[in-house]
Amino acid sequence: ADGEPSGDVMTYHLKAEHELRIEVDFDRQVTVKLLSGDAEIFGCELPKGGAKTLSGVKCAIFTWHAAQIQIVGKPDACYEAEASAAMRSYLNLHTALEERRKAAVTTTSPTTKGPRVLVVGNTDAGKSTVCKILCSYACRADAMHGGVAAAAGHDHWVPVFVDLDVGQNSVTPPGTICAVPVDAPVDPVDGWPGEAPLVYYFGHASPGENAAHYKALVESMARVLAQRETDDVLARAAGLVVNTMGWTDGLGYDLLLHAISALSIDIVAVIDHDKLTAQLKAHVGSQGGDVQVVKLPKSGGVVTRDTNFRKRARDRMIRSYFYGSRSELNPCASAIDASSFKVFRVGGGARAPNTALPLGATSRMDPLRVAPLPMTRDLERCVLGVLHGDNAALGDADVLSKPCAGIVCVTEVDASRGKVHILQPSPGSLPSKLLLSGTMRWND
Ligand code: ADP
Repeated sequence: ADGEPSGDVMTYHLKAEHELRIEVDFDRQVTVKLLSGDAEIFGCELPKGGAKTLSGVKCAIFTWHAAQIQIVGKPDACYEAEASAAMRSYLNLHTALEERRKAAVTTTSPTTKGPRVLVVGNTDAGKSTVCKILCSYACRADAMHGGVAAAAGHDHWVPVFVDLDVGQNSVTPPGTICAVPVDAPVDPVDGWPGEAPLVYYFGHASPGENAAHYKALVESMARVLAQRETDDVLARAAGLVVNTMGWTDGLGYDLLLHAISALSIDIVAVIDHDKLTAQLKAHVGSQGGDVQVVKLPKSGGVVTRDTNFRKRARDRMIRSYFYGSRSELNPCASAIDASSFKVFRVGGGARAPNTALPLGATSRMDPLRVAPLPMTRDLERCVLGVLHGDNAALGDADVLSKPCAGIVCVTEVDASRGKVHILQPSPGSLPSKLLLSGTMRWND
């Protein structure tokens, strides 16, 4: 690199369409500062002279024209690389989305929608990163639609980011799917906006644990989003950016097709996967031309993460839900009355493996059966979703369609006193008495 060292301070002179890739472990801190030129981290501009302190991140500082970047501290890796091909194609996609947004907001037809993009690819293809870039660019782009935007108090788009990855979620804890309006570029330190997400609790780190339940939740979310779009022309025009998990064959592929249909996706962006591109083109691209399948290159900077890292990342995500990303929160340990709460499981019952059944028979268990769970010590360490709703009017369908207000973790079940000890992010009574369990476990 052309860095000029001076103690732990390095200055890099980035050329146009190059990026500085930085890896900083969780136990380190590195400060980056834009001295001159223009630079962005995954679509979010660095203010000139402003410093960002990075910890526990792998990211890239990219410049379209040229930039002088100062790095203070010792990153675990730091190198410059050319990034034209990937970034140009992400920008081209953004430009195409922008055209659709403008067309949607200026049309008189109330049914014309803005772009609804689904980003797919293998694990570690850079899907979440592409979603971030697309959302951040949308937030930076002017939405100059005369009276419409001004009347609604917007001067930029507010796209909705939908995260369907229950294993490596970006916004809400693992085991959930969520939709969140993105009203500002995604900050490299603070991450996605956490305001008012629409969350559904699935309770497993892989959709394969109960695909029918997963599909039901995606459909429930899609209904709420559709309602929001009916009421709000700007929301309809800004559209959706949807992140998916990296499971693209077999049932995983089936779930992608389901998401495309449930969320009325009209652009599928496939990162670096020829077979998947071809499959999707044949499947959805040919159905009347409604769904466009585009191929995107993978950035050379994407870092791969092994299974162990993913598990640790999940644990950390749950921990930061309770303690804050900088351990700034005091989670609250409280005891609830076992008798006044209901814990459910979806698709419960011991499932006979198909291999244990007579040839040709399949397990008959209804995957959408909602079953109450007794408050026993089996619940210890269990992460439970607290559903919105109230006991009185509860039916099975509600458990499959109610969004989730938050999660709690069971620390101890004291059956003799009828108490369940839980950890919750803040004090106060829980928003409802409906708890949903799955296979997510967590140990403080
Ligand atoms: P996926 O969602 O497909 O699993 P991610 O977008 O989360 O992949 O990317 C994997 C990791 O690589 C993340 O930590 C991300 O910040 C990092 N990363 C992505 N693009 C770059 C890049 N150009 N330079 C450095 N790190 C990157």
